Amino acid sequence: MKYLIRTYGCQMNVHESEKLAGILESMNYSPCTSASEADIVIFNTCAIRESAEQKTFAHIGELKKLKAQKPSMLIAICGCMSQQNGYAELIKKKFPYVDIILGTHNISDLKELIEKRLATKKKVVAITESEDISGRDNMPKCRTSGLNAWVNIMYGCNNFCTYCIVPYVRGREVSRPACEIEKEVHELVEAGYKQITLLGQNVNSYKGPDGEGEIGFADLLKRLDKIEGDFWLTFMTSHPKDISNELIDTMASSTHIMHYLHLPVQSGSDRVLSLMNRRYTTAAYLEKIAYARKKIPDIEFSSDIIVGFPTETEQDFLDTLSLVKKVKYEQLFMFIYSKRGGTVAEKLDGQVDIATKKERLRRLIAAQEEIGTSVAEKYVGKTLTVLVNDVHPKKKGYMLGTTYFNKNVNFVGDRSLIGKKVKVEIQSSKLTVLTGKIVEEL
Ligand code: SF4
Repeated sequence: MKYLIRTYGCQMNVHESEKLAGILESMNYSPCTSASEADIVIFNTCAIRESAEQKTFAHIGELKKLKAQKPSMLIAICGCMSQQNGYAELIKKKFPYVDIILGTHNISDLKELIEKRLATKKKVVAITESEDISGRDNMPKCRTSGLNAWVNIMYGCNNFCTYCIVPYVRGREVSRPACEIEKEVHELVEAGYKQITLLGQNVNSYKGPDGEGEIGFADLLKRLDKIEGDFWLTFMTSHPKDISNELIDTMASSTHIMHYLHLPVQSGSDRVLSLMNRRYTTAAYLEKIAYARKKIPDIEFSSDIIVGFPTETEQDFLDTLSLVKKVKYEQLFMFIYSKRGGTVAEKLDGQVDIATKKERLRRLIAAQEEIGTSVAEKYVGKTLTVLVNDVHPKKKGYMLGTTYFNKNVNFVGDRSLIGKKVKVEIQSSKLTVLTGKIVEEL
């Protein structure tokens, strides 16, 4: 029996697909690469943008013919799209040949749902909402991210940023018990994973049960940092309003935590930030960046920016450009605002026209190219510690690695180095990658 999982969206979905694959493999399914070979095809969907939804619908539609030729092939839809209000009905109507629809809270029920579908021959729908997360992590996982292992530390989001659908499809924040996370990280390090990435919609508001009480994110990191072994620890995503000096101090004094912070600012205009319900000002954001740079001088930052949020004026956009130039991000993920049904921003007056949005995006990309290039240039001539991840997929004889501040590095080497740390002297730089030569194996 073969399975194919198509994953859309963020790292949370990537990791959930690893869990789905783990469940399927425990049922004796093995992976395949095309739907024509598969006995079950799962679409793990994203709802963050309407364009992602349209793309998924098109891909589900492409299976209609195959399903008619091979009725025994199961088709399942899960993830954020299926959890949205009314979407299970919509999917049933639009794609009557879909067998199983499951929500974000029902991933761990996959085995029972497949068995039910096979036994009853009836369509199965499981969309529930529950704050009981005890079963969400104790399945086998088929990890697919090389030396990196994702670890969920919490689920859901309480923030209701006005452009975002996540709180409606992932529910309220619930944190995993600290001892469970500690055990999982410990096992992953023992198993040889070299980078552990803690996952949550807003990791900074982690408050996990711990014995009789509970602990916050900085204390969780302190605990994980004490685990012995050769690994780097990082986390995403951080909400700027919740990132504390204590957390930065913890990063500064740690052994394992990477000197890298993804801190999505979204806009450089306080007026727009308030409309987005982000609950911080640009001044407060810049203070946190300055504090982190003071405590961890070699830290690098990345961020997300949305251009063309409703009512965004030219001046608001110039404020964003100015903030980006002040921070000097190593990497920036830039998006055009697009309406998302079911959110507050969808109903705001003052939607910005698409030509203006595209023009602002183009200017932002140009600014970031200049900034990112100069950030990368400062490493030329320096010697950096690099974790060797894999063989370079395109450059023959080259390997690919990552620095402790999450920058890709190319260098000549062979696959015997995979999983090791090396010192690389940087000889040249581009926006997204550094190139150098190994000067020492660690
Ligand atoms: S913090 Fe805001 S942007 Fe992030 S998941 Fe929650 S609501 Fe969405």
